[in-house]
Amino acid sequence: MPQGRNEIRALLEAHGVRPRRSLGQNFLADPNLVDRIVRTAGPGPGDRIVEVGAGTGTLTRGLAATGADVLAFEVDRRLLPVLEETLSGTDVDLRGDDVTKVDLGAVLGEGPWTMVANLPYNVGTPLVLEVLRDVPAVVRLVVMVQREVADRFVAGPGSRTYGVPSVVVALHADTELAFTVPPSVFYPVPEVESAVVTMSRIDPPEHVDSAIQLAGVAFRQRRKMLRRSLSSVVADAGAVLAAAGIDATARPEDLPPNAFVRLAEAMP
Ligand code: SAM
Repeated sequence: MPQGRNEIRALLEAHGVRPRRSLGQNFLADPNLVDRIVRTAGPGPGDRIVEVGAGTGTLTRGLAATGADVLAFEVDRRLLPVLEETLSGTDVDLRGDDVTKVDLGAVLGEGPWTMVANLPYNVGTPLVLEVLRDVPAVVRLVVMVQREVADRFVAGPGSRTYGVPSVVVALHADTELAFTVPPSVFYPVPEVESAVVTMSRIDPPEHVDSAIQLAGVAFRQRRKMLRRSLSSVVADAGAVLAAAGIDATARPEDLPPNAFVRLAEAMP
């Protein structure tokens, strides 16, 4: 049965579950939006989807209905009986695990996988960055996150939201903000807008880890000139910046992601 607001409320009440803010439990209470996310992901029979935070199973069911193989995590044990009910008749592989505590790479094994999720707000950023950096089996992500987080993922130089997450994302994936989502489609209603982001993995450049580390050092002092902020990690920061073809008076927010790669290459 499609899960609108009344159905979700009734399901949770029947199982004595009150949504927990600490687990980012804002359930998608709009079947049209579930369809839109599924269409954006576009899976078909035999494709492998990993979902983080199955909740009451509305998106999970939509994904399974495409014929894709779905592996779904849900940390809240109170929701497992709900999911047993809403996912009955499907082949969804449901795991009652905290996704931040499992070795996702080992669980997924060989790719390709697509991650599709309405991510809990407290897990969103670190999980996406970790998957991009450490779980190459996930070749595509279609994830709903807070609008502010989505903006940070797609930001480029010169933007106030440009920072280390933007650099990590840009060096691992082609990313687009697919569409924004108003608070009113969730139960309970959150305070902020959300957005669905799509990411298609690209081959990261060599030295990607050092580039991200340098971006971390530089953005820690976002208002400082690179010559100064990098002096904490290299003796002659001016010479390294010159070798990388970067103006020593530039600030980190001026540098495109590939400039951090050039910087990593120029390090002694
Ligand atoms: N997919 C459902 C939907 O769209 O309605 C639920 C989305 S809700 C924003 C996030 C879900 O993630 C909640 O059900 C929450 O219990 C679950 N969750 C939170 N932290 C988690 C974690 N570390 N591992 C697995 N699931 C988690």
